[in-house]
Amino acid sequence: MSEKTIFSKIIRREIPADIVYEDDNCLAFRDIQPQAPTHILIIPKEVVAGVQHATPDHGPLLGHLLLKASQIAAEQGLAAAGYRLVINAGDDGGQTVAHLHVHLLGGRPMQWPPG
Ligand code: 5GP
Repeated sequence: MSEKTIFSKIIRREIPADIVYEDDNCLAFRDIQPQAPTHILIIPKEVVAGVQHATPDHGPLLGHLLLKASQIAAEQGLAAAGYRLVINAGDDGGQTVAHLHVHLLGGRPMQWPPG
């Protein structure tokens, strides 16, 4: 199903993206509509439609995504000032792409509660 999302096409290099990190399990690239000075998406190469579809078998993969998000944040110079990680899930969560992704947002103070 989600083999056809835009993110699968980015993984397969069928459409361009500003990639900042890649390994065997994940890809990180800049969001096309940035909501902060730094806005990067970290996605698994394995297609998981969203965190709401993750199973216990995905535990190591989910941990990997968070650890890489933290690593990338540090590489982007965000560690000292702080940053926000967001995973939107489903319609009420604001998810628009059915391929699990972690938003890394930084470079400005974040508000709470989110909209
Ligand atoms: P969601 O709303 O599902 O949590 O986040 C999807 C994100 O993907 C949005 O922030 C949107 O701007 C981003 N996005 C959608 N299409 C593309 C694309 O073709 N390239 C890139 N780099 N980001 C995209």
